[in-house]
Amino acid sequence: AATEPDANAAPALRIRGLRKTFGPFVALDDIDLDVARGEFICFLGPSGCGKTTLLRAIAGLDPQDRGIIEQNGEDISTRPVTRRDFGIVFQSYALFPNLTVRRNVGYGLHHSGLSRRGRRDRIAELLEMVGLADQGRKYPAQLSGGQQQRVALARALAPSPGLLLLDEPLSALDARVRLHLRRELRDLQQKLGVTTIMVTHDQDEALATADRIVVMRRGRIEQTGRPEDVFSNPATPFVASFFGAMNFISANVSADGTITAGEGSFTVPQHEFPAGAEVSLCIRPSDIVTGPPAQAAQNRLRGKIVSALFRGTFHHVVLDCPVLGQTLEAEISSDHWGRHELTPGTEAMIALPQDKLHLFARGAET
Ligand code: ATP
Repeated sequence: AATEPDANAAPALRIRGLRKTFGPFVALDDIDLDVARGEFICFLGPSGCGKTTLLRAIAGLDPQDRGIIEQNGEDISTRPVTRRDFGIVFQSYALFPNLTVRRNVGYGLHHSGLSRRGRRDRIAELLEMVGLADQGRKYPAQLSGGQQQRVALARALAPSPGLLLLDEPLSALDARVRLHLRRELRDLQQKLGVTTIMVTHDQDEALATADRIVVMRRGRIEQTGRPEDVFSNPATPFVASFFGAMNFISANVSADGTITAGEGSFTVPQHEFPAGAEVSLCIRPSDIVTGPPAQAAQNRLRGKIVSALFRGTFHHVVLDCPVLGQTLEAEISSDHWGRHELTPGTEAMIALPQDKLHLFARGAET
C-alpha cells in the first residue's frame, strides 16, 4: 500500500510569526496558529483587534509583511489570491446583482473542469444544501438578507475549497435569522467537514459555533482554546471579562498559600502564585452562591443586598461585602432564597466556590 503523503499529516493551516503593518500601525504581530482539518475556528475580539486583517492575510487579499502561512504543509505565504484554495463569504453578501441565484453559485465553477451538465448538477446540489432549491431563477434583490447570505455560502462552497473563510457572515442579519443561520452553518460545516475560519465580534456566536476560539486583542492572540476553556479557564483578565461579567477582588497571597482579601481568607486550589504576590481574585456573578444567612458553605462571607433586579430566570444582585471592602455582583436563582425577599438591606451569606475562582496577577490589564 502507498504511504500517506506528508500533506495529510500537516495541519490544514499553519501560521508562524505573522506580522502585518499599515504604515506605522502594527495590525498583527507574532501570530502563531495551527488549524486542524475539519476544524471550525472563530477569530473573536473587539473592534480593531485585527481579526479581519488576519483572515485577509490567510486569503492573500492583504499579504503579511513577515511570517509564514502553510496550507496542508505547503508554503502559500507569497502565493497570489487566485492560486489559493479557499472560499470566502463577506458580511455584505457581495453577490452579483445582475446574475440569477444559479449563476451566482455557478460563478466559481467556470474553471472547475466540470461539464455544463456537471455544473448544473453541482449548483442544484448546493442550492438544495442551503435550502434554496426553488429559488435558483431569482435575482439577489428578490431575496431576503438571510437567503442572500445562503447564496453567498453556496457560491463559496461550490468549488469544494479546502478552506472556508467567513468574515462576520451573520452580522448584517436580524437577530432571529442570525440565530437560525448560525445553527445551519454549523450543521453544514460538520456535514461537509470543511475546515472553517469565521471572524466574529459576538461572544455567543463564537461559543455556540466554534470547535476552538482564537481570542484576539490589539493585533495579538490572547488565548486559543475550546469554548469551555476560554469561558471557564480564561488565561488573562481580558479574556475573563470578554466572555461576560466578572467580579475582580483585590487580594494577596499569604504565607500558607491562602488568598486574603480585606479581612477575608479564601482557598483557591492549585494556584502557582508565591506568598506575598498581589493578585486579583475573580469570580463570575453566575458562579457566586448566596442564600439566607443560615446556609453555610466554604469560602463564605457575609454581605447585604444593595439592589436586586429581576431578570427572568434569575435576579441580578449587588451585594455589599464589608469584609472585602467592596461590592460583588451575583446572579441569584430564586430557589436558593425560598420565601425570603431580595430587598435592599437583607443580609446574605455569600459563598465563592473554590473551583469557580480565578487568580490573575494584579495590574494585568483588562
Ligand atoms: P472590526 O470588527 O472593526 O472589523 P477587526 O478586528 O476585524 O475589527 P481589522 O479590520 O483587522 O479589525 O483592523 C485592525 C486594525 O488595522 C484597525 O485598527 C484598522 O483601523 C487597521 N486597518 C485595517 N485595514 C487598514 C488599512 N487598509 N489601512 C490602515 N489601517 C488599517
